[in-house]
Amino acid sequence: MTRVAFLGLGHMGLPMAKNLAAAGHAVVGFDVFPAATEAASVAGLAVAASAVDAVRSGVDVVITMFQTGAQVLGAYRGADGVEGLLAAAAPGTLFIDCSTIAVDDARAAHALAEAAGHRGIDAPVSGGVVGAENATLAFMVGASDDDFAAAEPLLAAMGRRVVHCGGAGLGQAAKVCNNMILAVSQIAVAEAFVLGERLGLSHQALFDVASNASGQCWALTTNCPVPGPVPTSPANRDYQPGFAGALMNKDLGLAEQAIALTGVDARMGMLARELYRQFADGPGAGQDFSGIIHTIRDGR
Ligand code: NAD
Repeated sequence: MTRVAFLGLGHMGLPMAKNLAAAGHAVVGFDVFPAATEAASVAGLAVAASAVDAVRSGVDVVITMFQTGAQVLGAYRGADGVEGLLAAAAPGTLFIDCSTIAVDDARAAHALAEAAGHRGIDAPVSGGVVGAENATLAFMVGASDDDFAAAEPLLAAMGRRVVHCGGAGLGQAAKVCNNMILAVSQIAVAEAFVLGERLGLSHQALFDVASNASGQCWALTTNCPVPGPVPTSPANRDYQPGFAGALMNKDLGLAEQAIALTGVDARMGMLARELYRQFADGPGAGQDFSGIIHTIRDGR
């Protein structure tokens, strides 16, 4: 049994914290949004009056599940008279950040944790809210071998796959690279369906060929952007997510930062970033990201 402060009880954090508690760990939660802390309490989770109180309640591990790198670094450091989590924690506390943030922010968070006498790992997830609820998330972890070994049982209580990607920041690197592949391949599949339509090819015929040929990929066989061939894909429910366009746009923004940092020639990734920025500026923000087919078909 590990004592854990779980901070950030939003769409992902609350079900993750509940699964951790259900696995027998002593979890105390907190969210700066009072309604989220209240919802956690109603759901049966122990909650604290502040993040620092949660961290000071005798925990060995602090898990954060926030939206942005600025929120993670701000909470670690503290600001505007609010004490930082790193200063409040007992020496040697293991800080696990599960938020999706930039690789360089994750590395800065590791460095801050270490400088304060703690241990830090990045452990972003894929699998969405359904994965968080069903404890079937995939964790991509950037950590030393020892810190990975310490974190793995906790992450395994919230997910199905826990992959050690390397040292500081490399969990975020894996996430950003995977989602860039996903964005580019979802656009390629959508373009192929629209091209097929114009050439008189039925959706089903293209699917039957490509899903058994070298065009096969997740964006086609699971997230098929047209209704029909894959009955469970978001296209069959008016593009309700799934993985929302706003989140894909956010992740591609992180990819753009990583591309700028490294100077890689990633023209396809950057074009995908631009298309998803346009998509998420409109109604696409709340749609599944496979709805990008509308942008391609008729510019909306
Ligand atoms: P969310 O906005 O629902 O939850 C984040 C919570 O963090 C909010 O309730 C916010 O009040 C809280 N928070 C922010 N700063 C805090 C602080 N200093 N102390 C305590 N609480 C604080 O977001 P979400 O959908 O749960 O996503 C969380 C992260 O997971 C994001 O980085 C997102 O990109 C990533 N992610 C989300 C999904 C998804 O499907 N929602 C999938 C994979 C990854």
